[in-house]
Amino acid sequence: MRIWVNGGLRDADDARLSVLDHGLTVGDGIFETVRTTEGRPFALTRHLDRLTRSARGLGLPDPDLDEIRRAVTTVVDANPVPLGRLRITYTGGLSPLGSDRGTAGPSLVVALDGVSRRPDTTAVITVPWTRNERGALTGLKTTSYAENVVALARARERGASEALFPNTAGRLCEGTGSNVFVVLDGRIHTPPVASGCLAGITRALAVEWTGAEESDLPMEVLAEADEIFLTSTLRDIQAVHRVDDRELAPEPGPVTAKAMRIFDERAGNDLDP
Ligand code: PLP
Repeated sequence: MRIWVNGGLRDADDARLSVLDHGLTVGDGIFETVRTTEGRPFALTRHLDRLTRSARGLGLPDPDLDEIRRAVTTVVDANPVPLGRLRITYTGGLSPLGSDRGTAGPSLVVALDGVSRRPDTTAVITVPWTRNERGALTGLKTTSYAENVVALARARERGASEALFPNTAGRLCEGTGSNVFVVLDGRIHTPPVASGCLAGITRALAVEWTGAEESDLPMEVLAEADEIFLTSTLRDIQAVHRVDDRELAPEPGPVTAKAMRIFDERAGNDLDP
């Protein structure tokens, strides 16, 4: 794998950041995961907008988007894969222990690996831990992801691929790396951004393209919904066939299947919607 690190392309074995990078020592960093299909990134402009919002939220300097676009093109060309997970990481940079911020400017890493297409359906669990809808980091896509790692490990132990969190008010919020949608009486609903979830790019497109409503939802909705689905950059729209001990239909339900078709068609026609 060839990786872009601070201004140049390197072999993965030779790609280096300081061990005192603030992203490593305190998780002071942000990232984006972008899907590439046959070397073409999907929704890159929206991802770069969110990266800038995350940088501002964390107090990092605005990322140089021209440089990132150059890095993306270089990395995509150097790593040809049919379906790719492109990861843009931007951190506080070298920062002597105990200092509040990097002293040598931020670090930029752009890497890409090949992935396989996700199955159409998946199992999820709910976890008792909460998303904080009023935190300093709420809505920012930071590299402080350790809580998601713990929740995902719990999901894997139970044969699931995702863990859904309530927020501190006990309302449905999001997954470790996805947004959640439910179908009630034929209508699609998803928690609002005010629930504390990330403003997912796939979520926004799904809302726009399917007319889904943003609704404040209790966790119990997962026991009643006719259909449930997840959205994320790498899942696109993925139906849920089991939530905790509740089995739903083994195949995507009619509303979810229609949403998947609409998404595939629109996303296939416009790479930067
Ligand atoms: N929620 C969290 C916490 C995430 O990390 C992600 C994506 O990585 C999402 C939701 C889905 O966002 P997107 O559709 O932009 O990938």
